[in-house]
Amino acid sequence: MNSIQLSAPCKVNYRLDVIRRRPDGYHDLRMIMQRVDLCDTITLSLSDTPGVRVTCGSAEVPDGPGNIAWRAADLLLRRSGREAELGIDIAIDKRIPVAAGLGGGSSDAATVLMGVNSLLELDLSDEELMKIGVTLGADVPFFIFKKTALAEGIGNLLTPLDAVPPVWLLLVNPRVPVSTAWVYQNLELTKRDAVSIVPRSFGTIGDLCAVLANDLEAVTVGRYPVIREIKELLLREGAAGALMSGSGPTVFGVFESEAGARACAGKLVAEHDWFCAAAQTL
Ligand code: ATP
Repeated sequence: MNSIQLSAPCKVNYRLDVIRRRPDGYHDLRMIMQRVDLCDTITLSLSDTPGVRVTCGSAEVPDGPGNIAWRAADLLLRRSGREAELGIDIAIDKRIPVAAGLGGGSSDAATVLMGVNSLLELDLSDEELMKIGVTLGADVPFFIFKKTALAEGIGNLLTPLDAVPPVWLLLVNPRVPVSTAWVYQNLELTKRDAVSIVPRSFGTIGDLCAVLANDLEAVTVGRYPVIREIKELLLREGAAGALMSGSGPTVFGVFESEAGARACAGKLVAEHDWFCAAAQTL
């Protein structure tokens, strides 16, 4: 097997509490992270020509070493000790909006780690891949974990959450890229009870909507008020809950049915030049 094609899903944060700023500049977080079936497609091919090559065809995403998927492949190729004889070609069909709070780059990197592990028959466990993944980005381990999770620390300490209801989400992106670093630089930390409880299971869609909260939302909304407008429209058009994901600006609405999510999407795209995608949770 010299070539494989894989799907790299995106994520939303049902909850994002910023606990504290750490001396190393990162923040300790408490998040509920959910994978969503809006995916990039990644094709990995082994080659006799040494080196890693990435083509993406997206103006916002670099080809080559600037791409996080390149760094993921390069790490594993070196770890295999076969970098002098083998190369890896990576083609990314980008469908996840970029710099959107949906973790697209992290998911691409995680998918490349898992794919190269299998192409090169390295037999690394998921735990080992997650340890390598966190050196690329704090959200990378979550996509290797492959379960809805409570994520603590910088986002890499993962506990599975079981009874989370499957729902349809409508992802709405107003097509402005947001830098995660900028959002954290502009975050004013309010005093938070470090032991504030995030429930571990949610039986119903109502329970799920009750936990929706994101400490970064106020920062990004301050710069892009359109985010508030999108939330209000989603709730008016039938969403049971709505929240900005990650550092934004993508907002997701929670729907009980595919029909509800698609009807809302139809209304929003008729009136706005926004990216809208209905997708199921994974
Ligand atoms: P997060 O919420 O983890 O910050 P995000 O969805 O906000 O993620 P990404 O889409 O992962 O942000 O992209 C952030 C930056 O990383 C962009 O500026 C982009 O150019 C760069 N980048 C490098 N490689 C990739 C990739 N494979 N996919 C997307 N962006 C990439």
